[in-house]
Amino acid sequence: MKRLAIVGGGISGLAAAYALEEKRRAGVEVEYVLYEASARFGGVLVTDKVDGCILEAGADSFLTEKPWAIELCKKIGLGDQLIGSNDADRKTYILVKGKLIEMPDGLMFMIPTKLTPTVMSPLFSMQAKLRMAREWFHPPRKATEDETVAAFVERHYGPEMVDRLADPLLSGVYGGEASQLSVRAVLPRFAEMEAKHGSLGRAMLAARAAMARAPKTKPRPLFTSLQEGMQQMVDALVATLDASSLKTGTPVQAISPEAGGWVVSAGLQSDQFDSVIVALPTHAAAALLQRSPDLAAELAAIQYSSSVTVALGYGKQVRDALPPGFGFLVPRSEGKRILAATFVHNKFPHRAPDDRAILRCFLGGARGEQMLALSEDQILIIVRQELQQILSLKAEPLFTRVFKWKGAMAQYGVGHLDRLDRIETLRKKLPGLALAGNGYSGIGVPDCVRTGTVAVEEMLKGLGISEGQPVPSTS
Ligand SMILES: Cc1cc2nc3c(=O)[nH]c(=O)nc-3n(C[C@H](O)[C@H](O)[C@H](O)COP(=O)(O)OP(=O)(O)OC[C@H]3O[C@@H](n4cnc5c(N)ncnc54)[C@H](O)[C@@H]3O)c2cc1C
Repeated sequence: MKRLAIVGGGISGLAAAYALEEKRRAGVEVEYVLYEASARFGGVLVTDKVDGCILEAGADSFLTEKPWAIELCKKIGLGDQLIGSNDADRKTYILVKGKLIEMPDGLMFMIPTKLTPTVMSPLFSMQAKLRMAREWFHPPRKATEDETVAAFVERHYGPEMVDRLADPLLSGVYGGEASQLSVRAVLPRFAEMEAKHGSLGRAMLAARAAMARAPKTKPRPLFTSLQEGMQQMVDALVATLDASSLKTGTPVQAISPEAGGWVVSAGLQSDQFDSVIVALPTHAAAALLQRSPDLAAELAAIQYSSSVTVALGYGKQVRDALPPGFGFLVPRSEGKRILAATFVHNKFPHRAPDDRAILRCFLGGARGEQMLALSEDQILIIVRQELQQILSLKAEPLFTRVFKWKGAMAQYGVGHLDRLDRIETLRKKLPGLALAGNGYSGIGVPDCVRTGTVAVEEMLKGLGISEGQPVPSTS
């Protein structure tokens, strides 16, 4: 019988545990222990229900185009619980000089692909529009070195595009800044498009033309979530696992290679395993791997930012008065603490009764670490003040919730891909150790699921168990 430990019971660790449970049920001779420091599984996936409204404390959905979370939901019996975002109402606004301006039609992430809506849009100055026209003639360029997203976007579209779109979009997804994040790690497709086509606009149109020639498939929603919120995925996963393998309230203090295996120390207990999957933010992984100082140093060098989400519930009058669409983004130049806000009742069906509106505001991020030190009351005062300025929203909320996430969002800085290569080289010198989570090759839930699942495959292969086959008997 082979023994595996999984450290961290967020979605990465749960995906790993599920993959192992599947093998175990298929007759593979493995057992596992899932260690979780807190009293509950799920990590940053937490759903609260208030007044008939579904409130997400952390992630609210996953990108449909990345299949791994959806596939896992289907496997655990949640296929009929998956819901798509209300894309017919998908409008996003950018705050410019205190006013919400709709993002023009045809913007793909930040690349303009339709002439008329971009030219007519008040989102950009005339100078920025002329830069966009010039971008069409950008020569192909094979990047030899990594650079920041800001430098890359500025080279193509000028500084206004960085301030109005690149920065707010990245602070929405990564809680990070365009001037810090690596274009090769965060927007690898953009770097490829530049190398091949030069102009991102021309590259995007070529991609769209290729898609138009491909056989037609049913259009899919941009985001997918679950009827009852992301917690539903956590609960369903936990329900599939072997209860005797689960340890909540058990923070691991150290993992050390010993006698061809690994020792996991938690409190006064130490336990011996053949393999360990560390499914933690990299700063937490580094703290446990002090017996492997080079690896720990590389892991600790990956920066994380913190995030604060604030949910506010309102009645029908506010719902009717709010603009249509999914929400708004706030460029840094606007000088606000709110980075973005989602109109939850519009983004997904069934998240709020018809007579309720839910606003979800994001604060913190790479520039707003100090938000974490404020009390919930102080945060609510700031949020309500800024919502009044942005949306003229004076009404008293029916309910509010504040959620703080310290060091939860990995920041893939310039050189991240080279760091990953070094981490991989060091890790391979430690057989039986796998790393999963949001610090490596994707911050979203689907990538976390993928890293947890792949870690199991790799560890089992290392133990001589492949393709779900039972360990050959030695007797
Ligand atoms: C506010 C917010 C909004 C987000 N929105 C989205 C979104 O809409 N879509 C999307 O795809 N992604 C989103 N993300 C990103 C995504 O949710 C996370 O990257 C992902 O859930 C991380 O999962 P994880 O299991 O790797 O880490 P975590 O969720 O951080 O889980 C790690 C677990 O390890 C435990 N732990 C820590 N130290 C120890 C120890 N020493 N011993 C044992 N256990 C330990 C922790 O208690 C925790 O439960 C969002 C993230 C945040 C913070």
